Amino acid sequence: MYKYVVVGAGLSGITIAERIATCLHENVLVIEKRNHIGGNCYDSYNEDGILIHNYGPHIFHTNHKDVWDYLSNFTKWNYYQHRVLSYIDGQLIPMPITTETINKLYNLNLSNFEIEEFLKKQAQPIDQVTNSEDVVLSKAGKEIYEKFFKNYTKKQWDVYPDALDKSVISRIPVRYNRDTRYFTNQYQGMPKSGYTAMVHKMVTNPRIHILLNTDYKEVLHNFNYEKLIYTGPVDYFFDYTHGKLTYRSIKFDFETLDYSCYQEAPVVNYPNDYDFTRITEFTKMTGQQSNKTTILKEYPTWEGEPYYPYPTKECADQYNLYKEECNKEKSVIFIGRLAEYKYYDMDATIKRALDTFNNEFMVKA
Ligand code: FAD
Ligand code: UDP
Repeated sequence: MYKYVVVGAGLSGITIAERIATCLHENVLVIEKRNHIGGNCYDSYNEDGILIHNYGPHIFHTNHKDVWDYLSNFTKWNYYQHRVLSYIDGQLIPMPITTETINKLYNLNLSNFEIEEFLKKQAQPIDQVTNSEDVVLSKAGKEIYEKFFKNYTKKQWDVYPDALDKSVISRIPVRYNRDTRYFTNQYQGMPKSGYTAMVHKMVTNPRIHILLNTDYKEVLHNFNYEKLIYTGPVDYFFDYTHGKLTYRSIKFDFETLDYSCYQEAPVVNYPNDYDFTRITEFTKMTGQQSNKTTILKEYPTWEGEPYYPYPTKECADQYNLYKEECNKEKSVIFIGRLAEYKYYDMDATIKRALDTFNNEFMVKA
């Protein structure tokens, strides 16, 4: 009945389904185990009427023009440049590390050039940067490492940065300038009516059929299909043949307060205090006006939904065993954060889905 079946209605699955329906004019079935589409970028209005990101703060940023243009077919954007403060020694300090960060932390008034000199003096010479600790030590030295990164990472990943792949902390730049934005990508914004509204627009084509509240393993045998696009956890697909892959999860603690402003920035990180990693205040990201405000505290945990692939060498090796199995499955395409066990941002997810569609479906169609 369906030539194409997609497992998972996150951005990966929805993008592929939209392309199949629009470009190939084929029916496509999307099977999703949650009671909504959108995956982890799902947002909704809470009982106090505040738009929240149910699975943690999601900020769209990309340098891929094709990804930005593609999504712009389904949403208008609110101008938004993300800013983060880090609570260090009783002060709120701009994060990532910039001229402003160092000046505020040490009560200085140095120029960009002087900050570069200052940080280069603190930096440790490291011949080969192999892990996330090396990344910071080699750019900014021990004190910055200990104040901003060491304990935040321990909370987030339950290990110190020396145990994590260098790509994890390399996400956070060190800049010798006054640009305090968290991201400097060319295209940034918040979907004007939210992510859920955007993904609903992506699936308006009547050729897309969605089955919610359904684990694909319960129903897949009912369908004859040619190609399966799988975006769920790769270890689950193979019945954990090579053991369970490790994922980090988060407990989300939302609270609505009877006043309109809680904190100075959309996100405040707490590397050294409290058990949560950060507090997000949603109205500061969405621009929504209200006399109430909803905040979110994130408590990293081992229990619960698989949000973050675990970026250690052991896990990468274990994933590679699954990758070999994937290569043998000629009628299945594995894409997305869970199926490729990869710390993809939203834009990388969509880029991957668009490129996969163009290479695997358009060329062969
Ligand atoms: P998912 O969104 O995980 O979708 C996979 C879907 O498959 C899910 O809906 C799941 O329910 C479904 N599924 C799983 N198993 C089954 C099954 N057995 N049967 C049926 N369905 C199944 N990215 C950014 O660009 N900016 C950010 O600010 C940002 N912040 C983030 C904050 C947090 C806390 C997290 C966890 C992620 C963040 N991301 C951010 C990353 C972003 O969420 C992902 O890149 C993106 O959502 C990945 O989409 P996906 O479709 O690959 O995976
Ligand atoms: N990180 C940190 N201190 C911070 C912010 C980030 O040590 O104040 C580290 C931490 O290990 C985190 C990684 O840098 O997992 C990447 O941070 P990012 O904000 O990109 O993570 P995200 O929340 O997007 O997954």
